[in-house]
Amino acid sequence: MSPQGKCAYCGLAAELTTEHASARWVPRKIPDSDSFAPVRDGHMCGGELTIEDVCASCNNVPLSQLDNYASEWWDRNLSSYVTALDADEPVLGRWLAKVAYNMQRIDARQHPGGREPPMPEDAVRWIIGAGPLNASLGIVVGRIPEEHLSASNAGHDGPNPDLSFPFPFRYTHLLSFVFVVVWRADTWKNVPVEAMVEVICKTMPGVALDLERGKGPRQVPEIANPDFVEAGFYGNPQLMARVVEFWRRQEARAKGSP
Ligand SMILES: [Zn+2]
Repeated sequence: MSPQGKCAYCGLAAELTTEHASARWVPRKIPDSDSFAPVRDGHMCGGELTIEDVCASCNNVPLSQLDNYASEWWDRNLSSYVTALDADEPVLGRWLAKVAYNMQRIDARQHPGGREPPMPEDAVRWIIGAGPLNASLGIVVGRIPEEHLSASNAGHDGPNPDLSFPFPFRYTHLLSFVFVVVWRADTWKNVPVEAMVEVICKTMPGVALDLERGKGPRQVPEIANPDFVEAGFYGNPQLMARVVEFWRRQEARAKGSP
């Protein structure tokens, strides 16, 4: 008998099923893909990570539709090196947010007690098409230079949950593109998602997906320091320093205002 519990997506009590962290097509279509835990663990395991906390209705309908869309998008656009993102950005964005949310729960299972800021509930409902996004999540995409090693593999990374204020960011890297998912977090309460998106766009550099209406194609800027993709977020000290500096400034400003 399948375990009973609360579905991580719709929040309803149900019989729980197994959800793939990314999608079954990712390891099939990108044999070099890996799923990365945060840097303290390095390489975690192959591309078939699963989590067993999703009800059959969410798994078989909205999540499966997102996987199908992403797989078709892949076949149409990304099987060779490209410089422009051509996608239905709200749909691709929901798939990328789903992958980040799945990786977050898998990571929390491996490291109970970690402090990674949870994905906001409105973003989770938006993933399954059950509510508006309410500016609770943003996505920035940057491009790996064609000759770089990372342009031929794939993986994920997230924040180090042992830090006092882990970043509310995760990325999914698929060959030429690195998608950074950013979400609203209590521990980062003074920083609106749009502001974090802007800092990442300027620093990485990258361009923001339009998660409300955006349709491609759009040119994707080349990442200035692509080596971090192999090492994880903490391998990009410039980006991390810029974000922390920005956050401190926001915090100081918020404290200074009445
Ligand atoms: Zn559900």
